[in-house]
Amino acid sequence: MRSLVTGGAGFIGSHLVEHLLSQGDQVIVLDDLSTGNLENLSFVRDNPRFKLVIGTILDPAVVLECVSQCDRVYHLAAAVGVKLIVEDPLASLRTNIHGTENVLMVCAETGATLLLASTSEIYGKNESDSLSEDADRILGSPLKSRWSYAAAKGIDEAFAHAYWTRYGLPVSIVRLFNTVGPRQKGRYGMVVPNLVGQALRGDPLTVFGDGRQTRCFSSVTDIVPAIVQIAESTAAYGKAYNLGGADEISILELAELVIHETGSTSNIQLVPYENAYGDGYEDMRRRVPDNTLAHELIGFVPRTRIDEMVRMVAQSLTTAVDRDDWTMTQARPAHRSIIGAH
Ligand code: UDP
Repeated sequence: MRSLVTGGAGFIGSHLVEHLLSQGDQVIVLDDLSTGNLENLSFVRDNPRFKLVIGTILDPAVVLECVSQCDRVYHLAAAVGVKLIVEDPLASLRTNIHGTENVLMVCAETGATLLLASTSEIYGKNESDSLSEDADRILGSPLKSRWSYAAAKGIDEAFAHAYWTRYGLPVSIVRLFNTVGPRQKGRYGMVVPNLVGQALRGDPLTVFGDGRQTRCFSSVTDIVPAIVQIAESTAAYGKAYNLGGADEISILELAELVIHETGSTSNIQLVPYENAYGDGYEDMRRRVPDNTLAHELIGFVPRTRIDEMVRMVAQSLTTAVDRDDWTMTQARPAHRSIIGAH
């Protein structure tokens, strides 16, 4: 199988690339290195079946060049992370809407099958006990950046579904719920690496709001194989699948767990949302996945516990990063470049 991973230099993308290479695929990564980085790919860079194209999904010619060499596309490239979205909503909207439509158009042209990575954000403020794929979406005003992200990803899904019904594009969708693991960075707002980094440095752990909001975290090591199995399943075409963790935990409990697991002397600091994200920010109080569809399709069961995830993230943040010539010489090139060949 020849696979393209857009956003393959990112946190989840780089784990997916490793997984695909380990099962024998040839893999091209298309990434603009906006939030991804070359260090994430240092484990695979010498693999002769791996090639990296540094470029943007906003450029249809680059997308066509990459997709036309592949049978399957995993579309993960997106502006992600609450912090990034709030700071630059315009760039996020462009990437998440125009970029995705470029990928869909080109896949329809070339006949490549497509796996679209979507997000639990699309459910918005729906706090039900268990969100199934057809659950209602409860979003705030699109003038609030957080909701513009949910709106953009919802449009992506609608576009994908329309390409499936209109052109028969074999596309399936996964909705990822708070995926956690090694290589995830706290700087884009993700809570687990953020809190673990603070604990390791001995800084106060910043818990936003009252800390009683809950999430169900899942490990990238459980999610990546599931993504591939769903992409390989013809029964998944035209459908969306939740992939999330099993256990619900409040952010305050998470902070306590992080302190315990890292043996940190840090304390916990409650930070008002407006201090973290500016005025008018709205958070989800709760977000719980119903994984039934993915379980029925591929037998998906999230197995990794949150304490194990915290330890994996802590280990990843403390391990010296492999900074050698390859990574140090690649400073965000202005023009597209290609590394490796197959
Ligand atoms: N959060 C926090 N401290 C941080 C970063 C995030 O308390 O340093 C909170 C955030 O407000 C949210 C939860 O943790 O309630 C999960 O945040 P994240 O950005 O990881 O994911 P999402 O909001 O998309 O679920």
